[in-house]
Amino acid sequence: MDVHESIEDLRAGLRSRPHPVVLVPTMGALHEGHLSLVRAARERAGAAGTVVVSIFVNPSQFAPHEDFDAYPRPLLQDLDLCRSVGVDVVFTPAREVMYAPDASVRVLEEQLSQGLCGRSRPHFFSGVCTVVAKLFHIVQPEAAVFGEKDFQQLAVIRRMVRDLAWPIDIIAAPIVREPDGLAMSSRNQYLDAESRRQAVVLHQALQRAREAVLGGARNPQALREQVVAEIQGAPLARIDYVEVVDPDALTPLPSIANQVLIALAVRFGSTRLIDNLCLRKLPA
Ligand code: AMP
Repeated sequence: MDVHESIEDLRAGLRSRPHPVVLVPTMGALHEGHLSLVRAARERAGAAGTVVVSIFVNPSQFAPHEDFDAYPRPLLQDLDLCRSVGVDVVFTPAREVMYAPDASVRVLEEQLSQGLCGRSRPHFFSGVCTVVAKLFHIVQPEAAVFGEKDFQQLAVIRRMVRDLAWPIDIIAAPIVREPDGLAMSSRNQYLDAESRRQAVVLHQALQRAREAVLGGARNPQALREQVVAEIQGAPLARIDYVEVVDPDALTPLPSIANQVLIALAVRFGSTRLIDNLCLRKLPA
């Protein structure tokens, strides 16, 4: 496995690597969720193709009060994990490699990134789009894999690729969960024992919502209230948002027809967790 820290070395290394090249962008602190993306990338690349993982904690997607400095960076452990799942190339640029001190170009998506996480994190999606655009230009992959855990991010990236006509397939990978249902996240390690115990309420509330919708519930407001009430049963949970929206437009639904996304962000102490449930092809 090659590990490159500079754009020049990465480009030179990739020149001799076979196509297709499939990229998995991450911020590191890798867990089984990330590794599932690598496996999906390997499937797309085939045994002969090249799987590239980028590990970069992207400063431009953190607001000043957020956890950029505290974000875990266990690089050696991450590299071992990458080796264990057969990654070919890892790109671990320093901040200065990705951003000149006077960097002044950003990529803006102006529709899908407005609601949900975009409301409480207004700089987040332009930070994500900018860094992913740059990674795409550096690596020039035929495909890239993103997790459905960050459902809105996946939608925004798909839109960026479509609207800018980049020849890159965006592959979605399902949410990987802990045995008790909590969606895996690098931020779960911030949780103290009691918050960790209570955080399972997010998955439980979404499961209950799934049962309600599959049982015929079609009122978005009532569904939202049900999820909010269940989460509020966990004393340490502070809801950022719970929304019932169309999974393509990410806008509120007047009523639930054949598809629905229930997306949420909830804080336990200073740790903000996100999760979602997407149901499509619902019976009328
Ligand atoms: P991050 O390192 O948190 O920026 O995540 C990098 C990629 O891994 C993103 O595409 C995430 O959606 C994906 N990811 C993170 N956690 C999970 C998970 N539990 N299941 C599936 N994908 C995930």
